[in-house]
Amino acid sequence: MVVLAAGVLVGYKVYTGRQTARDEIAVYVNGSLYMTSPLRPGEDLTVTQEDGSINVIRMVDGGFFMQSSTCQNQDCIYQGAVTQENWNRRILGTHVICLPNRVDVMLLVDSTDTEVPDV
Ligand SMILES: [Zn+2]
Repeated sequence: MVVLAAGVLVGYKVYTGRQTARDEIAVYVNGSLYMTSPLRPGEDLTVTQEDGSINVIRMVDGGFFMQSSTCQNQDCIYQGAVTQENWNRRILGTHVICLPNRVDVMLLVDSTDTEVPDV
């Protein structure tokens, strides 16, 4: 029940705008931070690795999805888009994960505890 209540609380905060999904995404490769980028809808981020793996991340309004990947299973493509509207209802939350290529992309969400200057 506690977990459920917490989930409802988070949802409430999202819909009242108190919790703001940041317009920024982070990309991890092999568990290390590869890059962060402000969301620029319509633009792509490309993750190229030494072994030839390539993941292309398409940024959209309020989120992103995996546009293409060299991985065999294409699971990351099927995971669909993460947006500021749907991230708290997705199984993977803010993440799109490509296991074969060890790429983890996430939408950054501000905690309600911190006040972010609006400048
Ligand atoms: Zn993949």
